[in-house]
Amino acid sequence: MSSNSQKGSSEHSDRRKYEFRKVIEDLKEHTGSGTQLVSIYVPPDQMISDVVAHVTQEYSEASNIKSKQTRTNVQDALSSIKARLKYYDTNPPERGMVLFSGAIDKGGGQTDMITEVLENPPDPIESFRYHCDSAFLTEPLEMMLADKGLYGLIVLDRREANVGWLKGKRVEPVKSASSLVPGKQRKGGQSAQRFARLRLEAIDNFYQEIAEMADDLFVPKRHEIDGILVGGPSPTKDEFLDGDYLHHELQDKVLGKFDVAYTDESGLYDLVDKGQQALADAELTADKQDMEEFFKELHGGERATYGFGPTRENLIMGSVETLLLSEDLRRDVVTYECPEEHTDRELIDPRHETPEHTCEECGEPPETVERDDAIEHLMSIAEQRGTETHFISTDFEKGDQLLTAFGGIAGILRYQTGV
Ligand SMILES: [Zn+2]
Repeated sequence: MSSNSQKGSSEHSDRRKYEFRKVIEDLKEHTGSGTQLVSIYVPPDQMISDVVAHVTQEYSEASNIKSKQTRTNVQDALSSIKARLKYYDTNPPERGMVLFSGAIDKGGGQTDMITEVLENPPDPIESFRYHCDSAFLTEPLEMMLADKGLYGLIVLDRREANVGWLKGKRVEPVKSASSLVPGKQRKGGQSAQRFARLRLEAIDNFYQEIAEMADDLFVPKRHEIDGILVGGPSPTKDEFLDGDYLHHELQDKVLGKFDVAYTDESGLYDLVDKGQQALADAELTADKQDMEEFFKELHGGERATYGFGPTRENLIMGSVETLLLSEDLRRDVVTYECPEEHTDRELIDPRHETPEHTCEECGEPPETVERDDAIEHLMSIAEQRGTETHFISTDFEKGDQLLTAFGGIAGILRYQTGV
């Protein structure tokens, strides 16, 4: 959900992220009465047999738990996880997986056993983690979902440079270079003029070398990159940027330059700290553009639609170019069909029971009642009709308005329609 170009190609991953977010929100709502909720993070390079061995050992250690109920619950959770692991051969999926299992409180002393397996999270699982607590461990997954963009990082002075990535919240140093630029003190016997010229040449060469290093890394990804941050002391970073050393398409992506004290790998982390505001603005840029376009069409143009019913109708006609869904929208859609085949739909809070209903046309009770997640319902239609879906953050005014004033659902149409 960063640049528009990325959004288009990552529609499926947006959907996956939405599905992940929902599962996580659900897991977070639950607690166990004791330390009995098990979370296991499995990185892609971990053998399944090792995971099974670990679970088996935890199972036998659980026999020391004093409370009989907690002991039983932990062992049940571990058995359930072990049963799930049987579905895998030798290795976990490509980006690893997370297993959650435990007896959750249902209130009134009742518990309910749940087991969830999330395969292939947005980023690879980095290390094995076994966690048993009164709540599920969801933070590492939440961090990944908060991950939005791909940014290029460059730190430099006249001696040293480092380039790398910021992928979501993760800094990845990639390449470094160091220079032979002589210090300001010339050696005896050299003419001052010649020394100055050689020094400038060496600086120029080093800037070119840094630019080549950055181009090699960033140019192949230039359509996915959401921005580039440049850090270093003054005037080095200014000279580097003003001298147009970088590939022109990268130059256009520079979000800002920042003073950082170090130009080794730690400088990359420092750069991300200093650039927080620019990064936050960049993350919202695409969302802001979408909402600007929506409001422009709403007030002057003819290509805006909003609300569940009209947007859905336009989607079905194939007239929606971009479906705009609020990231914070959580609604179920209930479809009622009466014996006369009249169809009514209403949106309800996912935590609520399906309400009683009588047909709005003939007053009959429904013959069939279907209940879906509203976002998944709309996204499925959008996918069939070649409509792009963009999730819109509520972290800016117009994004918040999408949720509060337009029910979290809107669309920009391909052309004017009557709906
Ligand atoms: Zn009816």
